[in-house]
Amino acid sequence: MRKKIVAGNWKMNMDYSEGISTFSEIVNMVRDEKKGDQIAVICAPYIHLNSLAQLSSGIVKIGAQNCHQNESGAYTGEISAKMIKSTGCEYVIVGHSERRQYFAESDVLLAEKTAIALKNNLTPIFCIGETLDERNNGSYYQVLKSQLENGIFLLNAEDFAKVVLAYEPVWAIGTGLTATPEQAQDIHAFIRSEIEAKYGWQLADDTTILYGGSCNPKNASELFAQNDIDGGLIGGASLKSRDFTEIIKALN
Ligand code: PGA
Repeated sequence: MRKKIVAGNWKMNMDYSEGISTFSEIVNMVRDEKKGDQIAVICAPYIHLNSLAQLSSGIVKIGAQNCHQNESGAYTGEISAKMIKSTGCEYVIVGHSERRQYFAESDVLLAEKTAIALKNNLTPIFCIGETLDERNNGSYYQVLKSQLENGIFLLNAEDFAKVVLAYEPVWAIGTGLTATPEQAQDIHAFIRSEIEAKYGWQLADDTTILYGGSCNPKNASELFAQNDIDGGLIGGASLKSRDFTEIIKALN
């Protein structure tokens, strides 16, 4: 079943005490604003996960921003999906463009990360998106299609049904340049049609597809009002409790 989700992505921000205080504010505000079936998630740095899970009272779900593709072992400095799950975390972002760009994460690697996340009962928030060059040279449908086919369409239908997708145009992330509601809707409808071609109409209709990229309290309502946009993945604006809560209020 399609869900309404606003997920914050704190990226590499918030020291330990800032994280605790901002998250506590978010829980208090969201408690009053969130309607029945809406889901609020904060994807925090690893150091916060367990503490935030304990503070969440189930009102705000917790997510990680990455996981390792292997179960356990000699991978100094890495964190596994099983470890993430053990903190009380329920979601994990996979394939954010910053991981693809700065950490050279390939489609093959991301498919492995998705599989291990699902195996450990974490919901992957799987990100795809085109760069500015790809948008300008018109290759973006092809780029998005290939990110879907090589990263997430390797799953069987039963597993694909557990995934949340996020369309994040790279040119809109942290730039203040948001995709227009029409541009975003066009791509979300395209993604849904690709899911339909692969898995059939019902699963396409049931898939939750978030928009991310300079989403803020001012533009969120118009974006979320589009037929195929089911919520947002929020970077900068999730660092301020009031802005994040305003964006949740924009969920229809
Ligand atoms: P932004 O980031 O909202 O700061 O543009 C979105 C994201 O990277 O998930």
